[in-house]
This record gives sequence, structure tokens and C-alpha cells, in this order.
Amino acid sequence: MPTPSFAARYLGRTVLAIGAHPDDIELGIGGTVALLAAAGIRVVTAIVSVPAEYELRSAEAKESAAILGSEPRILLEGGCRRIEDLKNYQLVGLLDALVREAKPAAVLTHGPTDFHHDHVTVYHATVAAQRVMQFDLFSYVPTMTRPVPVPFEPNAYVDISSTMDKKLEAIAAHKSQFYSRGLAFEFYRDLARVNGRMVGVDYAEALAVDKIVFA
Ligand SMILES: [Zn+2]
Repeated sequence: MPTPSFAARYLGRTVLAIGAHPDDIELGIGGTVALLAAAGIRVVTAIVSVPAEYELRSAEAKESAAILGSEPRILLEGGCRRIEDLKNYQLVGLLDALVREAKPAAVLTHGPTDFHHDHVTVYHATVAAQRVMQFDLFSYVPTMTRPVPVPFEPNAYVDISSTMDKKLEAIAAHKSQFYSRGLAFEFYRDLARVNGRMVGVDYAEALAVDKIVFA
């Protein structure tokens, strides 16, 4: 019997992807988002804050969401903001409201071992949002534009062989990061190839299961 796909679990339901900043979702789980969207699943990609160049970076995020097939959101809309300037209860309130509105069957967010403080803060606020309703919770790999070693122990893998190119296309839509700043994102193809090799497919994205609810 073939293995049921990740998408099959969420057909007819909503999946919510959360990233602290523009491009985090694409780097961590762009292939998974594209895969779910291609299966007809409503995927909401929510960015908490745009720390700089608001107009440009929010336009890039919109373009990237169109490539992935997701519904984009910016939680701190209207101008440049930093997550660390928020009180924790304010961030939890934002995520609570998002969960109430999107009613996700699954949430994919940053993990607790990330070195970026904003990412870890978003992870903890997402954990707290489980008070609002039950959903499967997954963390994705620490995302960074200049890779450094960070601990991450995945225990679930999504075969993204069919959406690997779309992931890179969505990352490339963030031109202000990956072109004008000269950052390389081929690392994310390498990482997906290594993850894929370890589980017998061409390309995979790795997740850590925080919680899964079986009917
Ligand atoms: Zn980030």
C-alpha cells in the first residue's frame, strides 16, 4: 500500500504556516506549502513582522505567496515593526486571533532551538495558541540566510520532489534579500537533497512533530 501523503491528511481543511519575517516560510517549508496548495488545501502563510523596507518586502512576500499558491497575511501590517518590541501577551493575542480566524488543522512554525530570538518567541506564542483550538503542530528547520550550525532534530519528512523548483522560485521572489544582498540560497536545495537522501526520495523538507492529534 502506498504511504498516505502529508496532503491527504489535511484535504478539505486549512493549514497555517507561520514565519517571523518575510522569507522564513519559504526557506523552511516552501516546498511543503506548495505541495499542500497544489492538492487544493487552503494554506495561509502568515508573516508576523516586516522589520525593514515595508513596501518592498511585503510586495515580495505577496509575489512569493502567489508562486506557492497560499493566502498571505502580515500580522503587524502597515509599517516596519520588530517582534522584540511587542509584549509577549500582544504576540500571543495576534496568534490567537489568527488561529480563531483560520481554524487550522495543522500549524507549521519555527522551532525552539532556533538561534534567532524572534523565531523562538514566535514558536512559544504558537504553542500558547493551542489554547484556542486543537491542531497538529510542527516545527521547521532553523531558517537563516547565512547558514551556521544549529541543533534541530527532525522526526517527520515531506517529499517535496515535485515542488523543489517552486520553493526556490518563491525564495528568489525575495529579491531584496537574495540578489541585492548577494546571499546564496542554493543551500536550501542542498539541505532538501540531504534530507531526501536520508528518507529515500529526491528532495524532502524536515519537520519536528510537536503534537499530532489522531481522530
Ligand atoms: Zn526570520
